[in-house]
Amino acid sequence: MPNKSTSSDARASAATETLQTPSPARKIYPIVKYGDAILEKPGAPVRKFDAELEQLVEDMFASMYAAQGVGLAAPQIGLSVRIAVVDVTAGKNPEAKIVLANPEIVHAEGEVREEEGCLSIPGFRGYVLRPQFVTIKAQNAKGEAFEIRGENLLARAFCHEIDHLNGILFLQHLGMLKRDLIKRKIKKLRKQGEW
Ligand SMILES: [Zn+2]
Repeated sequence: MPNKSTSSDARASAATETLQTPSPARKIYPIVKYGDAILEKPGAPVRKFDAELEQLVEDMFASMYAAQGVGLAAPQIGLSVRIAVVDVTAGKNPEAKIVLANPEIVHAEGEVREEEGCLSIPGFRGYVLRPQFVTIKAQNAKGEAFEIRGENLLARAFCHEIDHLNGILFLQHLGMLKRDLIKRKIKKLRKQGEW
């Protein structure tokens, strides 16, 4: 989901926080970019909720914060499974960390058209219509079922990440012209070895 900010100030303060708060070493996964087939296929349900999954989830949060995202889905780190992490506070509030295993939208309401980006499609953004409120049901890293309601950015993040688990990218929500323009630019970048 969207980069909040890519200013050097944001990077500098994030680096300072990392230095001041020692935490167990985490694996930082490289983010899979658009063009990799894994991003466009549905993930398999999570069935095993064990210590390994809890590790993976913490590594996903670390990878998401490192990339300055507010959401990250497993296919974006090369794993075709239905798990995603979301934190719209970008690590500022530990209570805002949300793990979504096998998430489903149970209710959606309202519409908001906002600009959206994706860690797998860096440098490109587009306006996407999303519900203003969504209620989703999911399981946490321990396999416990819960429901959560999100509004605005949080609702958008939930929808964006659930899309990822279904093999859908925000590009598919854009108009044809905008979508083709972005695809052409990415193709060019790939030819130049910059993607
Ligand atoms: Zn994304």
